[in-house]
Amino acid sequence: MEAKLNADKTDWSPFPYLDDQDVISVQRGPEPGGLPGAYRAFGETLRGLKTTFGRIIEGPVTIQYPEEKTPVYPRFRGRHKLHRFEDTGLEKCVGCSLCAAACPADCIRVVAEENDPENRVSAGERFAEVYEINLSRCIFCGYCEVACPFDAITMGHDYEMSDYNRSDLIFTKEMLLAEPIDRTPLRSEGE
Ligand code: SF4
Ligand code: SF4
Repeated sequence: MEAKLNADKTDWSPFPYLDDQDVISVQRGPEPGGLPGAYRAFGETLRGLKTTFGRIIEGPVTIQYPEEKTPVYPRFRGRHKLHRFEDTGLEKCVGCSLCAAACPADCIRVVAEENDPENRVSAGERFAEVYEINLSRCIFCGYCEVACPFDAITMGHDYEMSDYNRSDLIFTKEMLLAEPIDRTPLRSEGE
């Protein structure tokens, strides 16, 4: 922007189209330094220490992870789990792919197959021959859980899913049907 000389020709202004009444003056803080500055710094330090000492009575809050785990909120969305019917043991998933369609990260792969009446895998006409979730892409939004019409997939409270290899983060149907494995390296007794 081109600077122009003010109307009274005393100063250069980057906003020559503004009148004096349009200008809002900013209230500035006190100048730093000097005795008043030291007094203010001391006051602010005391205010900070008040917070520190107020917390001391709460005691230590360190959690000895991984032996102790932080409890998660009931709505926490962790690792997915596929479910079976308790009575028949059949898989609830019928391979409809609604979860895959709802997934914004495009990280669910479902390949459906027709059920053999002699050897049923699921209670529906079809079952998921392949069901995979790429957890390295998943954003844990929970849309898959909401989209499933049969409550076949839910999100649990397991959050220990780190791994050394990306390909190990592709969870297969067998892994999702199983209980989450306990990956936490717990110390042996007396260690
Ligand atoms: S939680 Fe969200 S991102 Fe993850 S698999 Fe389900 S729909 Fe996809
Ligand atoms: S988990 Fe649910 S929505 Fe996804 S394919 Fe199976 S039945 Fe369909």
